[in-house]
Amino acid sequence: MKSMLQQTVKTLYNATIITMNDGFEVIEKGYLTIEGNTIAALKKGFPETKTNLIDCSGKIIMPGFVNAHTHLPMTMYRGIADDLPLKEWLEEHIWPAEAKHTHEESVRKATRLGLEEMVRTGTTTFADMYFFADAVAEETAAFGLRGVMNEGILDFPINSYKTTREAFEKAYAFVEKWKNHPLITPAAIFHATYTCSKDTLLEVKKMAEEYDLNLSTHISETQHEVDLVTSQQGMTPPAYLHELGMLTNKNFNAHCVWLNPADQELFATKGAHVVHCPSSNLKLGSGIAPVAAYLKKGINVALGTDGCASNNNLDMVEEMRLAALLQKGVNHDPTLLPAREALKMATLNGAKALGMDNIIGSLETGKRADLLIIDTDNTFMQPIYDYYSAIVYSMNSSCIETVLVDGKVVMENRDIQNSN
Ligand SMILES: [Zn+2]
Repeated sequence: MKSMLQQTVKTLYNATIITMNDGFEVIEKGYLTIEGNTIAALKKGFPETKTNLIDCSGKIIMPGFVNAHTHLPMTMYRGIADDLPLKEWLEEHIWPAEAKHTHEESVRKATRLGLEEMVRTGTTTFADMYFFADAVAEETAAFGLRGVMNEGILDFPINSYKTTREAFEKAYAFVEKWKNHPLITPAAIFHATYTCSKDTLLEVKKMAEEYDLNLSTHISETQHEVDLVTSQQGMTPPAYLHELGMLTNKNFNAHCVWLNPADQELFATKGAHVVHCPSSNLKLGSGIAPVAAYLKKGINVALGTDGCASNNNLDMVEEMRLAALLQKGVNHDPTLLPAREALKMATLNGAKALGMDNIIGSLETGKRADLLIIDTDNTFMQPIYDYYSAIVYSMNSSCIETVLVDGKVVMENRDIQNSN
């Protein structure tokens, strides 16, 4: 027997709707009608329809989180090597482990584990950078989450490909296979400016332009990376990307811990997006990205968990809270990154970074029904004086009761619908 939520057309009413639209509109005692994958109506008051009505008294309805940078299959390396600097962690632990254990079947299993963790913590869309991307996409589509991804390109042989040419062949095939899929959006993904030659970067650019893809990489994660690229190219990683014509408003960049003032100016004028990954940056001792300053300069800052090997989870609720607290602490200013701005980073800013704010990131008529139903009648969220404060500072992921993606129920009352 299908629940009311599983019907194609349904109306959630008596809810507090946190829209996250540009005016930060909150609708108390409102209703939201879903038709197929779309939000057909969203208003204050009671609906006229009497069919498939779902009473959401005591519930908050809000947009699903957008995790704008992760490596989903790396759930298989959760806890494999901790308390080490990035270079040693990567070169002596992660890369050797990947050479041994990263295969299509392990990637599928680890992806399923990651998808389950993401839905339990409220992520409805994620941007992934890893290998065997076709397997990641197949698992994601079957599970019912929204993903932006492609084969991660770098210039040395790995289990997924032996040459850069083969990497591009996989990436082009991925775009052709998935370009019209409702849940999977192909992107152009390369690891970093220090692991790809200039020719490789230019081919990534060509692929992105040919298929109108958004483009993503890791940039200025550590001081070491900035020094290395500056010594090799005579300029910082963002300046190098800009020289190649790749720093644009279709470009979202993980980390950005070490952007100098000129780099920040480039990001602001070009409209390039920052994906802040505070847990990973702290755990690897990379530093703390000054994102309050970036936001002040008009740079769009999204939020990501990074992979499980450096976090060690995919929980956007934790990430959002940490992001807000860090900026207050390091700047000795509690007014920085207020709760609703932190929530915007985790939702609409993420959608903007992925070039998907026309369909996701906020609850608005005509957008896709990607949403969370939050139970406020629990120990963690009572009492509520301010909805944004309750979501960012009080809520934990166990308060997320139900998750819909593209109008379909992926988790209902914490019961995952598509687990296998
Ligand atoms: Zn990463």
